[in-house]
Amino acid sequence: MKTIAKLFKAGLNDLLNLFYPNPCLLCRNTLQTHEEFVCTACRLELPETGQHRGEALITNQLKFAGKVPVAFVYSYLYFTKKGKTQRLIHALKYQEKKEIGCVLGRWYGYQLKTDCQLNEQLDLMVGVPLHPARLRQRGYNQSDWFARGLSEALEIPWSDRALSRTKFTLSQTGKDRMGRWENVSDVFVVKEPDLVANKRILLVDDVLTTGATLEAFTVALRAAGCQSVGIVTLAATR
Ligand SMILES: [Zn+2]
Repeated sequence: MKTIAKLFKAGLNDLLNLFYPNPCLLCRNTLQTHEEFVCTACRLELPETGQHRGEALITNQLKFAGKVPVAFVYSYLYFTKKGKTQRLIHALKYQEKKEIGCVLGRWYGYQLKTDCQLNEQLDLMVGVPLHPARLRQRGYNQSDWFARGLSEALEIPWSDRALSRTKFTLSQTGKDRMGRWENVSDVFVVKEPDLVANKRILLVDDVLTTGATLEAFTVALRAAGCQSVGIVTLAATR
């Protein structure tokens, strides 16, 4: 019976796709029943960094070197203007397609588990929180949705309660690195230190640019007594 119901459901989805095609976010071709958001051809062309396999690791690590100790910094995709990654992140952040964060998290989480057994180096993952005003405006935190997918694939729990952001960070454009640091240093708080104490934490964010926000949270997490902090982001600038 189960199989028939499954076949029926698959048939129904194909039929629905005929009338209401569900296009690939990148090439607009109609997705097959088993595909989610991105068709297989486009998925194979995503600009993966391969950092967790030791490829091009240096750029990411340098953003934190000499500032704060991090166990590792891995980003799933390279971010380029008008490229595939930017279009996916735009859909995730501004077109209410929060589920795509979860799908990308599952894809990357699976690689992190099979390629370098990252699950064995972690106890808990936490998404970088949005400021409450931004969260109200968007209705969801895109980094939490990415963390959710990672959590499913790596089988490591995630929490959206551990960290908080208490003050709006003004536009950071035009500020030098030191200015940015001052701008963000006092707004990132570990709300529930008991959750992170003595744990190996994975800090999850959407895009890694200068690393100032992640650096500030890493400092806060270490002050709260966590054992180590590793960082995974959906994308990174080269
Ligand atoms: Zn496609």
